Amino acid sequence: MAATVLGIFSHPDDAEFLCTGTLALLKNAGCTIHVVTLAPGDKGTAIHSSEKISRIRKKEGADAARLLGAEYHCLDFEDVYIVYDRDSINKTTAIIRKIRPDIVITASPNDYMIDHEITSMLVQTACFATGIKNMEIPEKHFEPVPYLYYSDPMEGKDKFGNPVIPGLYIDIRSEIELKEKILACHDSQRNWLLTHHKMDEYILSMKRFGEQRGQEINRNYAEGFRQHLGHGFPQKNILKELLGDHCIVNL
Ligand SMILES: [Zn+2]
Repeated sequence: MAATVLGIFSHPDDAEFLCTGTLALLKNAGCTIHVVTLAPGDKGTAIHSSEKISRIRKKEGADAARLLGAEYHCLDFEDVYIVYDRDSINKTTAIIRKIRPDIVITASPNDYMIDHEITSMLVQTACFATGIKNMEIPEKHFEPVPYLYYSDPMEGKDKFGNPVIPGLYIDIRSEIELKEKILACHDSQRNWLLTHHKMDEYILSMKRFGEQRGQEINRNYAEGFRQHLGHGFPQKNILKELLGDHCIVNL
C-alpha cells in the first residue's frame, strides 16, 4: 500500500520531536509524506519580530521536510492563538482535503500546551469531516475517513504530570541519526528554548525521550502513539501493516 501520510501539528519542530522517525520509516516503505503546521512558530523568539521569526521558522520547517523527503505547508494561524472555531475547522479541513491522506498523525489530546490540544481537536474534526458534503469550503469531500494517530505529549506526560501510555510504539533506531539531523534544521529554537524555558540540549532532550520510549519495549529508540478508535474512524492498526516488526503494540 503506497499510502499518503500527513503529520499535522501546531508549530514547526513539533513533528520533528515526536514522529519524524516514524515518518522516515513510512517514507522508506514507499509512502508520500506531508508535514503541516497550523502556526509558523511566531512566538518562538526572544529577539525577532513576529514576521521575521515566522519567515525563519517556516524556512526551517521546509528544510526539515526536505531532509525527510516530505512536503511542508503552514496554515499561518498564530502561536498561542490556535482556537477551536468555525474558521479554524474550515482551514484544517481544507488542507486535509487537498492532501487527501490515508493516515494522519497529530498532537496529543493531552499535552502541556493548549495550542497542541486544540490542534488535536481540530484535526479530529477535520478527519471526521472528510466525507461531509455540506462543509463551508470549496475543497471536495472524500472517503474514507483517514486512520488517525496521536503522538506522545512532550515528555510523555499530561498537564497533571500523569504518564500518557502509548497504545503502540514504533522502533526508530534505524532513523535516529536522520531524526537528529532533521530536528537540527530548527536552529532558531535552540537559542529560544534556552532563554524562555531554560531548556538546553535541544537535540539531547529529544534523544533522551526516544531512549525512554525505547527502554519501555527493550529497544534503543522509539516513538509512542495512540490510535483514535472512536466511532466512525477506521479500526485497523495500519502502522503495524506498513511497518511490521518496527511496530510494537502495547497490550
Ligand atoms: Zn508545539
